[in-house]
Amino acid sequence: MSLIENIIRPEIRALSAYHVPDSGGFVKLDAMENPYTLPPELRNELAQRLAQVAMNRYPVPSYTELKAAICANLGVPDGFGVVLGNGSDELIAMLSVACAKPGAKALAPLPGFVMYAMSARLAGMEFVGVPLKADFALDLPAMLEAIKQHRPAITYLAYPNNPTGNLYDAEQVVEIIRAVGDSGVVVVDEAYQPFAQASFMPRLPEFANLIVMRTVSKLGLAGIRLGYMAASAALLAEFDKVRPPYNVNVLTQAAAEFVLQHTRILDEQAAALREQREAMRATLAALPEVQVFPSAANFLLLRVQSKTKSADDVFANLLERKVLIKNVGKMHALLENCLRVTVSTPQENALFIDSLQAALLS
Ligand SMILES: *Cc1c(COP(=O)(O)O)cnc(C)c1O
Repeated sequence: MSLIENIIRPEIRALSAYHVPDSGGFVKLDAMENPYTLPPELRNELAQRLAQVAMNRYPVPSYTELKAAICANLGVPDGFGVVLGNGSDELIAMLSVACAKPGAKALAPLPGFVMYAMSARLAGMEFVGVPLKADFALDLPAMLEAIKQHRPAITYLAYPNNPTGNLYDAEQVVEIIRAVGDSGVVVVDEAYQPFAQASFMPRLPEFANLIVMRTVSKLGLAGIRLGYMAASAALLAEFDKVRPPYNVNVLTQAAAEFVLQHTRILDEQAAALREQREAMRATLAALPEVQVFPSAANFLLLRVQSKTKSADDVFANLLERKVLIKNVGKMHALLENCLRVTVSTPQENALFIDSLQAALLS
């Protein structure tokens, strides 16, 4: 056996690394980033704040002030707290590690966010995927049956879902939370909450097994890497044991505390993007060669239904035009010929639509 075979777990060897394409020189519409920055005067003020940060010191690992600011400004109900992560990707990893008893399973609808399955497998958990319906709604009977059969320790529901963009029926989400009961937690992942304006956060007190997870990534701060999850104190105390003590760095902490004093700007940016999303959807809906799906997020899912061009052709042609979106057609059978595009500024959206039309004609 080789060194690699001697030391690396077979399930890790079988994985391929999460691939992030090099986007230098591209109009970048592949990762649901917010195209807007902070206004110059706030950037200057932030620079002053960051200059004061004691980078020679470790963070204070309780993160008391940042957590209090999140709870106060982002709608965490009284009596509930948060655990912070280096992006919600780290929170997902922490959940997996904490729950990975021998034989424990994680469950999520598919197509869904790939990190749920990836993280579960890295932690040694089995992952169970339950297909959505063709319109990307939850297949509730299939979900309830899978929950009964597998008794998942973690059930993930992205609300709204990535890469489909739709918001699941809230009553069905509640049925799932109840069906899981005290045999598992249900993670409602609200990465796109500012664009959905729907949330389970206020409903935390109703369900002992509910975790509401969010990130600042899609609302304009992807680069600082900060996620948070809110749940009962009893659950959070356990997950906090898995958290590396200094997982949020002092610059992120200072930047987040600063931005949380100016949430109005982020709210305005999210409102502008919601408006752009609807404008872009209407334009795309008028193109005969594409089907565009409803979205409660800051991206749109399209299906190429041209007689001469596949989604792969269109994606490749857009790359030649220096427009980077995400080709999700191979992710799942339900996504055949589908592409996902981030909603951006009016200029970039117009450029995308022009490029898409040109690609369809080429
Ligand atoms: C982008 C995304 C995340 C990851 O967020 P980070 O905080 O950047 O790690 C989590 N969940 C869903 C559904 C996402 O689309």
